[in-house]
Order: sequence, then structure tokens, then C-alpha cells
Amino acid sequence: MFADVLIIGTGISGLSFAIKLAQCNPEISLVLISKDQVSEGNTKYAQGGIAVVSDFEKDSYEKHIQDTQTAGAGTCNPKVVKFVVEEGKDRLKELITWGTQFDTQKENLHLVKEGGHSEKRVVHYKDHTGLHIQEALMNKIKSFKNIQILENHTLVDLITDHHSKEKQNRCYGAYVISKKEESILKISAKITALCTGGAGSLYAHSTNPSIATGDGLGAAYRAKVHMDKLPYVQFHPTALYHKVNGNTFLITEAVRGAGAKLKNSSGALFMNEYDSRKELAPRDIVARAIQKEIQKQPEKYVALDCSEISVENWKKHFPNIYDTCATLDIHLPQDPIPVVPAAHYFCGGIQVNSNSESKLKGLYAIGECSSTGLHGANRLASNSLLEALVFSHRAALNVINALQEKLPDSSFYKALPEWKGDTYSNSVEIKEIRQLRLRLQEVMTNQVGIFKTTNGLKEADIEMYEIYKKVQKIYNQHKLTNGLCELRNMVSIAHLIIQQAQSITENKGVFYNQDYA
Ligand SMILES: Cc1cc2nc3c(=O)[nH]c(=O)nc-3n(C[C@H](O)[C@H](O)[C@H](O)COP(=O)(O)OP(=O)(O)OC[C@H]3O[C@@H](n4cnc5c(N)ncnc54)[C@H](O)[C@@H]3O)c2cc1C
Repeated sequence: MFADVLIIGTGISGLSFAIKLAQCNPEISLVLISKDQVSEGNTKYAQGGIAVVSDFEKDSYEKHIQDTQTAGAGTCNPKVVKFVVEEGKDRLKELITWGTQFDTQKENLHLVKEGGHSEKRVVHYKDHTGLHIQEALMNKIKSFKNIQILENHTLVDLITDHHSKEKQNRCYGAYVISKKEESILKISAKITALCTGGAGSLYAHSTNPSIATGDGLGAAYRAKVHMDKLPYVQFHPTALYHKVNGNTFLITEAVRGAGAKLKNSSGALFMNEYDSRKELAPRDIVARAIQKEIQKQPEKYVALDCSEISVENWKKHFPNIYDTCATLDIHLPQDPIPVVPAAHYFCGGIQVNSNSESKLKGLYAIGECSSTGLHGANRLASNSLLEALVFSHRAALNVINALQEKLPDSSFYKALPEWKGDTYSNSVEIKEIRQLRLRLQEVMTNQVGIFKTTNGLKEADIEMYEIYKKVQKIYNQHKLTNGLCELRNMVSIAHLIIQQAQSITENKGVFYNQDYA
């Protein structure tokens, strides 16, 4: 199979990148692949919304820039922060023209204030903004004839020329599992874009769906692409303590923005002891405060007292949370919601420039799998959907130009080698995989989680190497399975996080080593 552009991932990054490319040039061939159904990924679960300056009477670009820098503990790239904030308004307009709606109030966009924001600036669609965006983009994409979507196709590895004598340090597409065909395809492409999202599944508690296993990061690592700021993993302070259909369910920051307060098991408010911004302090501060309180009390959760939010407000702005809690016998607003912190967002990833180009020629990384410099040591709430939109736009314009360059002709792509490893099986269950995955999550949660120590990281390093050896042995002896592919990527990224964490000597943003406190 051949495409001008191969896009791996169908969340906000992959879909908006494809739409923009197809709009710019209806002649180019685009192939989009998704590991699961097209809709599954972090985008679908985003509740809060997109941070965009739109009320210029009260808000300004300068304020949004300042809030982003403050959340990022002064480590964001100022040039990137500036263009992302300033280009947000146009990207939002475009998203609306592509069929997305946002809540309004008196003909203006309804704006919400979230943690770390000095003004109300988060646009949203009730409390399921991500799902609505995902559906609107999927609908829009159907109107383009030059886009082919392959669901249930899993990236295994990128095709590079690292082993060739005439190497150009370039990416030429990817080897991809077709689950239906039980085979591994070669999809060669002039340009390849990783839009594979985050890796929250490295941790026992995560707001991400279970497919968020860092596959794009793992493949990029094996292709010798530079990875940046991986230990900066953001934990969302308020995930529902009870699992919903086996998944962790998020209680958006906007609920605290609307007046909900955190209480410990004695019923006492505690955020004032940790930060003057209390419940609306940046996420890292709130998550650490909750974790500290949990360590002091018998219960493994704290309570989110929502009694200040009226039933009308719940039904209007947070119907998804309201209904989900009701199914668990938590009746809002009178009942408090039990909450815990959970791994939520990877601030780091594949290092890219302002056009989302990685250091491997022909390889782009967009969205959560990339490290653009926007978030620094901590992401400001609702800045990630914004980042995905701004960078997919910039990447698309860049790719349109890159495709004009002199690139190899089709015979070169046909001659690229087929997958040489073992074949794929979706029927073989490798028992050990589940145990190793759980062990990996345990190590990451206990030693590489919200609180780290220098010794704990050393122990985690040794333990992860043991897991790696076992995974490698399975990889060498068995046919590929989806679970094996995921675990292979998870162990690589866990190893990289631990390695990078050991070289960080200062606590900033979400990174917290107790030995430096
Ligand atoms: C519960 C929750 C709430 C959030 N709320 C907000 C919010 O309010 N505002 C905000 O700005 N951000 C929010 N975020 C973060 C934001 O949703 C994500 O950062 C963003 O959606 C990532 O988009 P993406 O396109 O980069 O990746 P994703 O949407 O995660 O998409 C990843 C895609 O990659 C594909 N993929 C992965 N591995 C492979 C593979 N091996 N082969 C083929 N395909 C693969 C998947 O199938 C999927 O299609 C939230 C995240 C979560 C989990």
C-alpha cells in the first residue's frame, strides 16, 4: 500500500490534520489508521473544552500566555506559547465551520474558568466537548474522496533507512497490523505523521482509555527519534474513585470552577493549607495536596463537595457527570463525589519544531504524542486540544510544501522491504502479557508516580529492565499480538521515563522528587 501521507491516529490531531491537507490539495492520497474504532482515543473523553481567548474586554492574549507560562513553571518555549495562544481564535472558527458547536450565552460563546486560568476562557460543548469534536470531525472527513480510513490497524514500527548504506535519515511509512486479515502490511508513504495520543495506561489509575499505551512514542524510540520531557506526566486531581465500566471517569476541573470544594475524610476543607488559589490552583498542586491528604487518612479518596452547584447548573453544564454519578447512587448536588488523582496527560513526547516536524525527515508528530514546548513542566488545563488544532494546521501547510520537494518515485517505495519479523495472530493469548502489564503499572504508580524518590527511581529502573527482558523473550518467541505490541511500547517508554527522571535534579511543574523538596 502507498499513500502520499500516512496518518497514524484518528483523534483531534489526526482528523484535523487530514481535513486541512485534503482541503489544501484534494489530489494527494491520505491514509488514516486507528488501532481500535476511529472514535476511540483521548479526544473522545475530553470534557472541559478548549482554552481560547475570545472575550477581549476582560481577557487578553497576554493573560493566556502568562497563565500558560505560570502553569509550566517558566519552562515553556515563549515563542511557541505566543503563536499557539494567538492562532487559537482562527483555529476555533475553523473548527466551528467544520461542524462543531459550542455552548453559547446571549449570542456569545459560553466561557468557563478552569484551574490555573486567570479568566473565563474555556469554550465547551456541555461536559462532553471531546466527543462532540470527534463526531463533527469524523462527519467532515466523509466529504473527502482522497482520504482512506483503516480502523483496527495497529502501527508496529516505522520504516526508516537507518540500515541502508545511502541513508538519508528519513521515514518512509510504517508496518501495520491488519487485525481482520491477520497480517502485517507495509504502508509506504512520502510523509508519515504520528498522532497516536498519550500513554496514561502506563499507570494503574488513568483517565485515558486502555489503548493509550504510547505506541507512537515506542515506534519513534525504535526509529531513533529524540524524545523530550517524558517524566512530566500530569495527574488529574479529580478522577471518580469508582470505576465506570472498568474505566476511570473524570470529574472535570470546570466543576471546581463552578464552586465545588475538596474535603478530607474529617470533612475539613484543606486546599487553603497548600495554595492561596485553593481548588483552582494548577493541577500538579491540587493532585499532590489530595495525595498527601489520602496518605494521612484511612480512606483512599477525598470528597468533592458540590452542594454549591444547583441541579439546573448540573443538568445544563455537566449532564454527563450528573447522570454517571446517579448510576453509582451519588445524587448531586447533595452527595459529595469521592475523587482520586489519576495519570492524565503526557506533557512530553516526540520532540518537534514549530511545524510539528521531528528530527527524522518525513516524520511529523502532532498532538499529545509530541513535545512542542507549549506545556513545559506542566500543561495548563484545556491547552491540549488547542495545541492539537494549531499544530495540525501548521504541519499541514508545511507538508503541502514538503510534497513539492524532489522525493523518490513510486518504484522506490514499492522496493522497500516487507515486514521481516514474525506474523500476527489475534487468536493466541499470551498469558504472561497481562501479568507483566500489571506489574509495569504497579512499578510506575508506586515509584514513578506523583511522588518520586531517588532510590525509588533506581529500584524502578532495575525492575523495568527485568520486565523488558521478559517482554523481549516473548517478542522473540511468539507471533505478534496486540497486547504484545502494546507491552513492548509500554516498557520502552517506562524505561525512558525512568532514565530521564533520574537525570532531573530540580522539582518543577508536575515533576516531584521528594528528595529535592
Ligand atoms: C478524560 C480526559 C479529559 C480531557 N479533557 C480535556 C479538555 O477538557 N481539554 C483539553 O484541551 N484536553 C483534554 N484532555 C486531553 C486531550 O483530550 C488529549 O490530549 C487530546 O485529545 C489528544 O488528541 P490526539 O489526537 O493527540 O490523540 P488521541 O485523541 O488520544 O488519539 C490517538 C489516536 O491514535 C491511535 N493510535 C494509538 N496507537 C496506535 C497504534 N499503535 N496504531 C494505530 N493507531 C494508534 C488511536 O487509535 C487514536 O485514534 C483530556 C483527556 C482525557 C483522557
